Amino acid sequence: MSAVNETLIRDVVADVLARLGGAPAATKSAPAPSPKTDCGCGGKGAASSAPALRGKFGVFSDANEACAAAHESFLQLQKAGVAARVKIVEIVKAMAESNAEVWGKLELDETKIGRLDHKIEKLKIIKLVPGVEWLRPDARSGDHGITLEEYTPFGVVGAVTPSTHSIPTLSGNVVNICAAGNAVVFNPHPSAARCAAVAVRAYNEAIYRETGIENIATIIEKPSMESFAAMCKHDAVRILLVTGGPGVVKAAMQTGKRAICAGPGNPPVYVDDTACMRRAAKAIIQGASYDNNLLCIGEKEVFALESIADKLMAQMEQNGAVKLTNAQLDALTKAAFTITPGQGGGCSHAAVNKDFIGKDPIVLAKAAGVNLPSGTQLLFAETGADHPFVVEEQMMPFIPIIRVKNLAEGVKRSLEAEHGYKHTSIIHSHDLEALTEMGRALDTTLFIKNGPCMSGLGLGGEGYLSFSIATPTGEGVSNPRTFTRVRRCVMVDNLKIY
Ligand code: NAD
Repeated sequence: MSAVNETLIRDVVADVLARLGGAPAATKSAPAPSPKTDCGCGGKGAASSAPALRGKFGVFSDANEACAAAHESFLQLQKAGVAARVKIVEIVKAMAESNAEVWGKLELDETKIGRLDHKIEKLKIIKLVPGVEWLRPDARSGDHGITLEEYTPFGVVGAVTPSTHSIPTLSGNVVNICAAGNAVVFNPHPSAARCAAVAVRAYNEAIYRETGIENIATIIEKPSMESFAAMCKHDAVRILLVTGGPGVVKAAMQTGKRAICAGPGNPPVYVDDTACMRRAAKAIIQGASYDNNLLCIGEKEVFALESIADKLMAQMEQNGAVKLTNAQLDALTKAAFTITPGQGGGCSHAAVNKDFIGKDPIVLAKAAGVNLPSGTQLLFAETGADHPFVVEEQMMPFIPIIRVKNLAEGVKRSLEAEHGYKHTSIIHSHDLEALTEMGRALDTTLFIKNGPCMSGLGLGGEGYLSFSIATPTGEGVSNPRTFTRVRRCVMVDNLKIY
């Protein structure tokens, strides 16, 4: 069957289902719809005022059409008001949770990276993303009247999502962006675009049924560099949100539009002799093995004080991680990286072998020449500070351990490994001065003390969640306010009631 026919058939089926009030079999819909309040005046609450379906439910083959449809949708949302934003947030959170098993499996089947249990969990926790309640205006009143500063929408946000967490990033982005009153168009990662389109279609069907708003989140079905360029250039797209590696961050910053960039990381961990070794070992295993180390905030290398390095490694083994010998490490390194020797005495360059990204520890172990039982969480080995597993953002369930002499060396090596991404760093210590020094020196967006990386996103630590952490551009863990313009409304000499 040709791609054109498939698309056509899917559109017709979706249209028929929608007209019958149904949803695709595999996808669970939002909670029971509340009856629309149509007072009969034909106003904005009237069900009959909803625009006619075009049968696409947000999925477009053309980037310009996707942007134009999102713009129309933004205008509809503006008319529908804050109650519609609240409804959209409710729908996305409920559907991410109720479809977590099906969509998690769909994403794993398409990308073939990561772990099913964590793919499911990443969708179940979309409920931790903040909503409309974050947009409280700032008011001032005085002898000259009242001034209100409001968080208002931009219009359409152009978003790029990664292969590492396609539906979770997209879902969290829809919540944050629509809570702020915007519409969004997605150019997803090509290797995770099919599952992203399934979620977009399902969200739009439910949102249309509940609010009459069509295409609040649109997606380019077959994304490419050209569709990315068209999306960035479209007049309706006011700002960009890109979540990905160095290439897309650079490309977004060169578009001339304001770009909120959730860029790459390579989070170092420093462990000293005041830490609880058992707690540190368990936290490192939990963080570095999460979704086979696909998280940008995930522990990627450990600098351990010489005096406790053996104790830490022993605790890691006792808690289920497997230590590789030097020979096994060499075999794994050869398989996991392509190393190009430097020319004329220059530095050699290591490129990560994509076949190993996000793969299970037993796959890595096999390449190292070891057979391990399935269920093994994490591999580790001792390396030098210039090892490719330290230098590159490797996204594999393997963590290198490097001995350091003191805090100064631990901080220096951590800074080198972090490459100035200003993303995430982690410390296990109860020495207040060490905590302060590392925090100041690393200057990262997330700085986590005595816990696994995910405690920085509200999982076991305080705080809220987003899978887009704006690092080089400084907005931090994105939330509804990230996607707003601050506008001032001034009443002179009146409405002060005291
Ligand atoms: P990737 O950079 O390969 O792709 C990300 C997105 O950018 C994809 O949609 C891809 O198609 C697009 N893209 C890549 N290069 C491009 C270019 N030159 N022009 C236009 N578009 C381009 O990343 P990935 O492998 O899917 O995801 C992993 C990377 O994302 C890691 O570096 C990770 O640290 C980072 N990440 C960061 C965050 C964060 O919140 N800071 C969250 C998740 C992932």
